[in-house]
Amino acid sequence: MNKPKQFDVIIVGAGIVGGALACALGDSDLKVAIIEAQPCKTDWPEQSDTITGFDMRVSALTAASTNFLADMGVWQAIQQRRISPYRQMHVWDAEGTGNIHFNADEINQPVLGHIVENRLVAYALLQQVRQHNAIELIAPAKLDTIEQLDDQKYQLSLDDGQQLSADLLVAADGANSKVRSLAEIKVREWDYDQHAIVATVKTERAHQQTAWQRFLPEGPLAFLPLATADKQQQFCSIVWSAIPSYAENIMAMDDAEFSAALTYAFENTLGEVIDVSRRFSFPLRQRHAVDYVKTGIALVGDAAHTIHPLAGQGVNLGLMDALALSEELLRAKQRGLNLGSLPVLERYQRRRKAANLSMMAGMEGFKRLFEQPALPIRWLRNIGMNWLDKARPLKNRVMRQAMGL
Ligand SMILES: Cc1cc2nc3c(=O)[nH]c(=O)nc-3n(C[C@H](O)[C@H](O)[C@H](O)COP(=O)(O)OP(=O)(O)OC[C@H]3O[C@@H](n4cnc5c(N)ncnc54)[C@H](O)[C@@H]3O)c2cc1C
Repeated sequence: MNKPKQFDVIIVGAGIVGGALACALGDSDLKVAIIEAQPCKTDWPEQSDTITGFDMRVSALTAASTNFLADMGVWQAIQQRRISPYRQMHVWDAEGTGNIHFNADEINQPVLGHIVENRLVAYALLQQVRQHNAIELIAPAKLDTIEQLDDQKYQLSLDDGQQLSADLLVAADGANSKVRSLAEIKVREWDYDQHAIVATVKTERAHQQTAWQRFLPEGPLAFLPLATADKQQQFCSIVWSAIPSYAENIMAMDDAEFSAALTYAFENTLGEVIDVSRRFSFPLRQRHAVDYVKTGIALVGDAAHTIHPLAGQGVNLGLMDALALSEELLRAKQRGLNLGSLPVLERYQRRRKAANLSMMAGMEGFKRLFEQPALPIRWLRNIGMNWLDKARPLKNRVMRQAMGL
């Protein structure tokens, strides 16, 4: 049998988080492999046949995330394609009069964040990965099995028959991580009992570079502003979270019925919904790995945690995982430490677990608060929202924290 190919770090999964980690390690002289099950494009992803070709999966990137991407020279490439800055955010309760308005001007920032299409970010990261000679991109190839060797290293078998081994194996292979299950790392998970429907829509009125979110009794409905090349402001990416039976009804509607239901659910805020792309529906689950690390293995991004999309934080948390792990690995390399050793990996876990847990707990609290039908709770939450809207110093702190500043 051939000797397995040796690496310092093997990353499984070249989504946004895996790609970012590989890029962040690109300038070190670590030998890195990144394995991706899907074929990786060598040209910018073409426009699809939807309204103006927007990807169905978009993310609201915080300043902390775009700074990380800019430090690696990736943000500049994305900016030249298609990004949509948002300067304001408006959140309101369908069951009352509570509302909060966030404005970047109030904290002297040019924007609150940027809406980006996931496939553009993933592609830009892989283009950067290709510039680094010490990183080998292996795609399409799927991880099949892992085996821990006597020296604590992991040996991997891919579905194309390749054998690889490394001091550190990183799981960036998403919510249903194969690495995580092969490594027998336990996960705490529960169903949110909601599905998220995503689509691109065209509205009668301009979105005003504002991210909008209305909390309905069935779940939150978000309109995220998208910009076309000619700077039209009538397109939004929507994320409509609803209990499964209601989501099924919405998915079964024809486009005209769907547009009318969406216009109604969004209270005509941007006028009528006048066009809609294909719709997709995802079941929503909260997951959190009990441990992010064990000797020779680390989990990042959705492999470690998935969170309700209501605050648009999933990819941002994953990017901060990639940043923290890359910093710890570079530090360990400088000190001649084994990259897969537990003390090195536990430093990463300490930096990220508490931060991720507190964001997840906050979002869970938010979701539950807005599900409560009882009048006193509805009354209190509406008063609370209006109070926070006027409590400038606290509101500014919330804004800065959500931006990762
Ligand atoms: C409806 C919805 C809306 C969202 N909106 C936002 C938002 O506004 N902002 C935000 O920050 N987050 C948002 N999120 C969350 C965000 O999309 C995820 O957190 C993010 O995509 C996770 O990135 P990842 O790289 O960890 O995983 P993934 O994107 O899942 O990437 C995993 C990669 O691993 C590969 N892979 C899997 N198994 C193998 C294998 N065995 N071998 C080789 N490769 C493998 C896959 O092909 C894939 O490319 C949203 C999520 C949903 C469901």
